[in-house]
Amino acid sequence: MSLQFYDTMARKKRAFEPADPKRVTMYVCGPTVYNYTHIGNARSAIAFDLLFRVLRHEFGADHVNYARNFTDIDDKIIKASKETGAPIDEITKKFAQVYLDELGELNALAPTGAPRATEHIPEMIALVERLVDAGAAYAADGHVLFSVESFAEYGRLSGANRDEMIAGARVEVAPYKKNPADFVLWKPAAEDEPGWDSPWGRGRPGWHLECSVMIKKGLGETIDIHCGGQDLRFPHHENEIAQSACAHDGAPLARYWMHNGFLRMGTDKMSKSIGNVVLTHQLLKDGWPGEVIRWALLSAHYRQPLEWTEDLLRQSKRQLDRFYRLLEEVADDIGEAAAPESVVLALKDDLNTPEAYAGLHELRDIAAQMDGAARRNAILRLRAAGRLMGFFEADPASWFKGVGGDGPTAEEIDALLLKRAEARKAKDFATSDKIRDDLAAQGIVIEDGADGATWRRE
Ligand code: AMP
Ligand code: ZN
Repeated sequence: MSLQFYDTMARKKRAFEPADPKRVTMYVCGPTVYNYTHIGNARSAIAFDLLFRVLRHEFGADHVNYARNFTDIDDKIIKASKETGAPIDEITKKFAQVYLDELGELNALAPTGAPRATEHIPEMIALVERLVDAGAAYAADGHVLFSVESFAEYGRLSGANRDEMIAGARVEVAPYKKNPADFVLWKPAAEDEPGWDSPWGRGRPGWHLECSVMIKKGLGETIDIHCGGQDLRFPHHENEIAQSACAHDGAPLARYWMHNGFLRMGTDKMSKSIGNVVLTHQLLKDGWPGEVIRWALLSAHYRQPLEWTEDLLRQSKRQLDRFYRLLEEVADDIGEAAAPESVVLALKDDLNTPEAYAGLHELRDIAAQMDGAARRNAILRLRAAGRLMGFFEADPASWFKGVGGDGPTAEEIDALLLKRAEARKAKDFATSDKIRDDLAAQGIVIEDGADGATWRRE
């Protein structure tokens, strides 16, 4: 079966054929870097990390170009700088690195390109000039606005009636706009704000502009797949489409559009503005292994809503434990072993992760009933599937020492083991037995060996 993805523009699944199989291109709208990101942001990044992996599997690791931007100039960043007194580039560099480190913990591969908006200001100004020359944009009151009337297809991606969308998005009505739906390409910068000289005075770019520019520069005028969260369809992606097409003689921005569904808290979207966020940073600090978070994020199909709960994390940990118990038996490298067909086919069908998980569970159950070489082979195939999906990358021995969100930390257990060794040396068996029993009650098993005691979580 060939690859197929649900294309938001076509509103159906379509067979995926890249324009050039030797140079497949994908772009994901990345974070605005002024603070720690939440687990909803991570859902988007991890869903499309899986897409990147599947494309690499299909077309070869060297044939996929994947860019994900950092928005490093924005009202929210300026506000954060004013509030904390820290310079803007200190804030954005710090949180861009935090974001990359966190996604690394979640086994996300590095994109092939990570462009930053502020590194593309001259290209942004050039694009705005092209739009003005083409009659698609106009300067007014220090601003440059894109005229939505100039692009007949405006609104096609999000589909809804344009006036309804505009009302829903509460677009800003401003006296200098010809049409309330016209959006800002360039805006004036206040004295105490960062700005760049331009033909329209000192100012800074609007948010939508950067993606059009970085896509063109990093990947080309028309890319294969453009991705992002479903909240970005309107206005962000409509605006990207309109800018790019009008600047590039009508060439479409992307051949396929993929959007992930929301991660929710109860019935609400997780979002900073509602304030119901769980930070990835915090989960990792609490001791949840990155793979557990990844497993939880991919447990629902990427287009479906996913409700985030602590129980989901606990279940994910338990499921991964069952795999690691088998993986522990075989330390060898994957070698020639291939991921099972059931997993590969599920992923090729619009990244169907629930079905891929079913394939993994099935193979695990089969492996558990086998012996000898057959068992070893099945375990290696599990590892191969894990490598494709970004799982099973931890060392099994340390996996079982990881914290499951509650219970004592590894350091605390090590300290107790030391105390127990001292107690035994002093023949204080009451104390040493109590330490053993207390740990057992928390699911931690001590194994005494010739070189001293080791421990593992049951
Ligand atoms: P932002 O920094 O808010 O622009 O978001 C970065 C990316 O995360 C975008 O692709 C958003 O669509 C996505 N995103 C934000 N909130 C959620 C959520 N609750 N669930 C899934 N994706 C989200
Ligand atoms: Zn974008």
